[in-house]
Amino acid sequence: LYATYLIIPFTSVLQGVGLLQKGMGALGRVTEVQALPVEDTAGAAVPAGSGLALEFRDVWFRYRDRPVLRGVSFTVEPRSHVAVVGLSGAGKSTVFSLIERFYEPDSGVVLANGSDIRDFSRDQWRSRIALVDQDSTVLNGTLRDNLSYAAPHSSDRDLHEVLELANLSELVARLPDGLNTPLGERGRALSGGERQRIALARALLTRPDLLLLDEPTAHLDPVNERALHRAIRHAAQECALLVIAHRLSTIRQADRIVVLRAGEVIAQDTHDELLGINNFYTTLVTGGFVDNSKSLETEISPGWR
Ligand code: ATP
Repeated sequence: LYATYLIIPFTSVLQGVGLLQKGMGALGRVTEVQALPVEDTAGAAVPAGSGLALEFRDVWFRYRDRPVLRGVSFTVEPRSHVAVVGLSGAGKSTVFSLIERFYEPDSGVVLANGSDIRDFSRDQWRSRIALVDQDSTVLNGTLRDNLSYAAPHSSDRDLHEVLELANLSELVARLPDGLNTPLGERGRALSGGERQRIALARALLTRPDLLLLDEPTAHLDPVNERALHRAIRHAAQECALLVIAHRLSTIRQADRIVVLRAGEVIAQDTHDELLGINNFYTTLVTGGFVDNSKSLETEISPGWR
């Protein structure tokens, strides 16, 4: 359900709109971005500094009459890696939407370094966040275009650095014209895993304090899967990382896992701690429900969400 947001801070979106319009004809996203409310310049500046700590404190949220988040509390420390897991509809994407301030909590608060994120200028806040969604977008253009529209003044050194972090150096070495190689229409020549890592490299280029990553549910071959995990590990060294995780192998490498069930955090701990002591979590990750989106409700217990 969490489908249509961009992979880059929103200030960069505006800079990139020209290129996006050239390259993303079929994607309806530009319209969506343009429809966003005009910048709210009012609001405090997001505190600069080393790292960003995010906290959900007793957050309640409903879509119309439907409660979606029910007293959600968790923290993401600077440069830590937190995974959110849960069945479809548990509220994972809504957590991202609240962080991005597409919606506001009905009660409770989302804090960044101790301040309510609603007190910040929305655009400035969004410029500190990057998002890599499941549907990794690659534009018609070169690899360089694809990376640098998010941060137009990047040097080649910057580009190579994020490509290395995203585990793409080998790909670049293989491309006939390196960074200047056209990637073809929407990156058709690339694998899904490579496209996702290009999106990740692009996100890292903006030096976010917080990276939101919605891990792809689509099948990745083992090579791409390992490459993605390494890239995620690298990303977590650069910034705070909150991942909607769909693969056991990604979940295992998180510092903490937040288990969402029907909008409630029913447990949060490391994989090893949760395994065995939390039945829902154990069924979720060992029953294959995480990797292939089987319906736990229908297969195990009606009403488990
Ligand atoms: P998935 O893994 O399928 O993406 P999720 O855990 O991310 O699921 P959410 O997308 O956060 O879950 O949705 C939580 C609940 O809120 C679902 O019941 C969904 O139908 C509902 N919902 C999501 N977006 C909206 C919306 N814009 N308007 C009304 N209801 C919504």
